[in-house]
Amino acid sequence: MIINTHSHIYDEAFDTDREEVFQRALEAGVEMLLLPNTDETTIKPMMEFYEKHPDNVRVMMGLHPEEVYKDKEDKRFADKKDYKEKLRIIEEEVPRLTARNDTMVGIGEIGLDFYWDDTFKKEQIEVFSEQLHWAKELGLPVSLHTRNAFREMFKVLDHEQDGRLAGVMHCFNGTYDEAKTALSYGFHLGLGGVITYKNCGVKDFLAEIPMERIVLETDDPYLPPVPYRGQRNEPAFIVKTAEKVAEIYGVTTEEICKITSKNAKSLFKL
Ligand SMILES: [Zn+2]
Repeated sequence: MIINTHSHIYDEAFDTDREEVFQRALEAGVEMLLLPNTDETTIKPMMEFYEKHPDNVRVMMGLHPEEVYKDKEDKRFADKKDYKEKLRIIEEEVPRLTARNDTMVGIGEIGLDFYWDDTFKKEQIEVFSEQLHWAKELGLPVSLHTRNAFREMFKVLDHEQDGRLAGVMHCFNGTYDEAKTALSYGFHLGLGGVITYKNCGVKDFLAEIPMERIVLETDDPYLPPVPYRGQRNEPAFIVKTAEKVAEIYGVTTEEICKITSKNAKSLFKL
């Protein structure tokens, strides 16, 4: 049985066949899907999917770093809400969801992303830090998104880690040193389809990372593993990632599924 720690199955990419996609995941051995939120517009579809499958789904609440921008100052975002308003809407959901059993298991996905530009670097850091505070106060793990931002990410963690932060460096694609640093802050590495790519550097040192510190994910509908590159990714494809990770560690796929599920269960208190 597999726990998929990062799936956006509520995304509109699955609007035409979401239930079939979910059935395929169950058939592939996925027993639990963790759904990170993205912005204020994704809360509704995410919760609708959760209500349909409360035995196999858990949610996380958070504002994605790519959704942090100010509408007034940039006409590209003229039709979007200001990030502060988005954050307030998401914050309001948190007590509602924590009051329910077996529903919300983390804060995510949150983090820093300076891939396209770093115009809102200051705002991203501010929003990220605020959400880390929620996690610490609630004792919840986080799902961290880091793209072109490890330096800044570790700077924030250095300031914020007081022993209360735990979570996943989702879709980890950094260097060996970055992996070691992430582990030193108490984080797990989230491995997805990227680990199956020829040019992925993580597979060269993964065997040196303790198996107790990795979890599996898909980040669907993005980043499909080989042999599905170019297609829409889906939760069932996690099996291909599990197979690759098992090959790297020289253990069976079953064993990797067992260990990573155990890790996810204890981290997210499933
Ligand atoms: Zn994601």
